[in-house]
Amino acid sequence: MPSVVITSKEEMEAIIAKCDVCYVGLADTDGTPYVLPMNFGYKDGIIYLHSGQEGRKTDILKRNNRVCITFSTDHALSFQDAQMACSYTMKSKSVIVQGTVSFEEDFDKKIEILNIFMKNYSDREFKYSTPAINNVKVWKVEVNNMTGKAFGFRSR
Ligand SMILES: Cc1cc2nc3c(=O)[nH]c(=O)nc-3n(C[C@H](O)[C@H](O)[C@H](O)COP(=O)(O)OP(=O)(O)OC[C@H]3O[C@@H](n4cnc5c(N)ncnc54)[C@H](O)[C@@H]3O)c2cc1C
Repeated sequence: MPSVVITSKEEMEAIIAKCDVCYVGLADTDGTPYVLPMNFGYKDGIIYLHSGQEGRKTDILKRNNRVCITFSTDHALSFQDAQMACSYTMKSKSVIVQGTVSFEEDFDKKIEILNIFMKNYSDREFKYSTPAINNVKVWKVEVNNMTGKAFGFRSR
């Protein structure tokens, strides 16, 4: 299947904008990988995630805050010969981001970030309760490296 390397930041951001879920890869210090589906927001080169305060993922992040996040969209099954398994391909576009996680602790900034996050899913204006903001863990992933690829699309 022809694959095209995407070098334009705008194109990579367009792929991210089409996704509603990303896959967050963490690595424990003994090398054990852990990959989770998560919802996200994105603005100006920063990926925003949110979670509860406790759990395996946050335990791992305390030991290693480096993450690798995959976004994938435009999936379409195609084939050249319906009878031939090896002629089937999945057209798709994906972006892989490497970055480091820090947590936002400021109450008002948390709300700003959650608004960016919610914008990914709805154009509504939202209200937040104080306990919800205090309890949510807001992740900021500073992007250190971003690569993109398109599979099954011709280069332009
Ligand atoms: C589409 C989608 C979007 C999601 N978005 C978010 C989000 O924005 N924020 C968020 O915090 N969570 C989100 N989740 C849930 C997330 O994937 C984790 O399940 C959750 O955050 C708990 O992670 P943990 O490491 O704290 O779990 P823990 O409760 O500490 O996990 C205990 C064990 O449960 C298993 N486990 C944990 N999560 C999963 C899973 N998803 N599937 C199968 N086994 C699992 C693992 O083996 C793990 O060792 C989403 C899930 C889906 C499917």
